[in-house]
Amino acid sequence: MKIETVIQDKLNKLLEVKTDDRFTIESVYYRGDTLCVSTQVGCPVRCSFCASGKEGLMRNLTAEEIIYQYELAKADGMEIKNIAFAGIGEPLLNWDNVKKAFFYFKDKGLRSSFYTTGFPVKNFQELLKLPHSGVTLSLHGVYDHKRKQLIPRGEKIEDIISVLKEHLSDLSKRKKKLYSIAYLLISEVNDSEEELEKLAGISKELGIGVSLLKYNEIEGIPYKATTDSQYERAFLFLKEKGVRVTLSNRYRTRKIGGCGTLMVNRLKTA
Ligand code: SF4
Repeated sequence: MKIETVIQDKLNKLLEVKTDDRFTIESVYYRGDTLCVSTQVGCPVRCSFCASGKEGLMRNLTAEEIIYQYELAKADGMEIKNIAFAGIGEPLLNWDNVKKAFFYFKDKGLRSSFYTTGFPVKNFQELLKLPHSGVTLSLHGVYDHKRKQLIPRGEKIEDIISVLKEHLSDLSKRKKKLYSIAYLLISEVNDSEEELEKLAGISKELGIGVSLLKYNEIEGIPYKATTDSQYERAFLFLKEKGVRVTLSNRYRTRKIGGCGTLMVNRLKTA
């Protein structure tokens, strides 16, 4: 594997990494200390809003290939303290390799956080018990039919929530802060008051916060981002309902390396 290109803007560095069998995957370096790594070449979940899953799964990355994204970035001079398993792929669907990489990073003294759809739920249960430094459940829809439209492969909401609830019930308030729900707000898709009200209920029932993400529009994908005022209204609505809610940070909303924008074979390898 090698780094093919580094595309950089003021905040993020997007690393295009070429595998030995000539796929190009992507990692993102941000905040001056964090590397977001890919876990699969493509993604079998095929979320309808995400560029990474557009072509489905090509293959899993090996544990070595996941680790190598870190080693390459480090060799390129990037200082890394945190790993985010949040690049291309669903970490739980390449679970054995992700676990191996996780323990490798842990032995190096790095902190690892995960973004996951919670599918499959058996691996989600295992993930919750790892010595991680954060798990964010990508919910995005509060009704099964709506969530399925956005995340075609996934567990029933009720099943994921009950696993999470059981896990959280034993944790202190401080430990619960390691967990959150991500909700990607898409204009006229999942932004009704009724849905936000239900989201508030789930968040309060679990006792964890919501990371309200702004959709990054992607060429070829028909969803629209909310306007700034719609986004702010949704934020205030949740806040008024007593939800601990955060907005997309400035790293996530970039065209370079923003959430949902990572691609396989952006370089069109020969
Ligand atoms: S959002 Fe995550 S799980 Fe969904 S297709 Fe993209 S990479 Fe896969």
